[in-house]
Amino acid sequence: MAVIIDGKAVSAEVKQRVANEVAELKENGIECGLAVILVGDDPASQVYVRNKKRACEACGIYSAEYRLPADTKMEELIALIDELNADEKISGILCQLPLPKGLDEEAVIARIRPDKDVDAFNEANVGKIMIGNYSFLPCTPAGVIELIKSTGVDMTGKNAVVIGRSNIVGKPMAMLLLHNNATVTICHSKTQNLKEICANADILVAAIGRPNFVTGDMIKPGAVVIDVGINRMDDGKLCGDVNFEEAEKIAGYITPVPGGVGPMTIATLMQNTVNAAKLQAGIK
Ligand code: NAD
Repeated sequence: MAVIIDGKAVSAEVKQRVANEVAELKENGIECGLAVILVGDDPASQVYVRNKKRACEACGIYSAEYRLPADTKMEELIALIDELNADEKISGILCQLPLPKGLDEEAVIARIRPDKDVDAFNEANVGKIMIGNYSFLPCTPAGVIELIKSTGVDMTGKNAVVIGRSNIVGKPMAMLLLHNNATVTICHSKTQNLKEICANADILVAAIGRPNFVTGDMIKPGAVVIDVGINRMDDGKLCGDVNFEEAEKIAGYITPVPGGVGPMTIATLMQNTVNAAKLQAGIK
């Protein structure tokens, strides 16, 4: 049976580290602040925003929340971002995605000052991630790397397979695995022989958005299996992209859903907010 990777425990360690850094910065007169913008009333987004606020409180980070109605106009959203870009109390700005129809996500992301872009979605930050010289880690992929490291498994030379090629998870995930010296394959909806490719993975990261998509026969015995997927089932329960029951009999290590990758995403966001405050204060 696989060892279950405890995302809550690993994220608590990261948040403690962040809280210590925040306290140290405060002693030197530097405050860390995160602004979260939520447009519309998507229930999942509301939960994420609440969790982010709680994490800020736990780390001693000032948090400001902006809840806008679903019919908010692009000019209004841009004006708010401009205001936050100029606000010295705010080190990091996050606009919760997806945005309601009619709002241009790319333009919104592009408007956030790169040194306040704690989600690392801005073109400037994506480019830096590609080069491997970055101030902000992409939150979910960075959290996954921490979870893999927590197993003690060395990524160097290992076959790592990422299922999913989104800008938010799949692509930056592949890049971070590459920076950690893994041999990386990215799979997607057009991939042929998906089963065979996955069954050869020492590290398998699923970021698809389809419940129980990864079955036991797609897993190499002893592999590290990371489930990024968050799918809400009809009974209200959360379910990952990996069939946990089948996978835990074969994998060496596996993340649960919930309690795996989710808490790590938020912990990395806290770390990025501190990094933003340091960047703006000219501290390396
Ligand atoms: P997305 O819809 O943008 O991308 C899904 C990817 O899956 C696509 O690249 C697509 O090519 C691939 N895919 C779809 N069907 C496939 C198939 N049959 N075979 C192989 N690949 C297939 O989604 P996303 O934003 O990358 O998110 C993926 C999942 O991760 C979602 O469930 C999302 O809720 C979750 N998520 C979790 C966190 C977290 O903090 N845990 C953060 C972000 C996203």
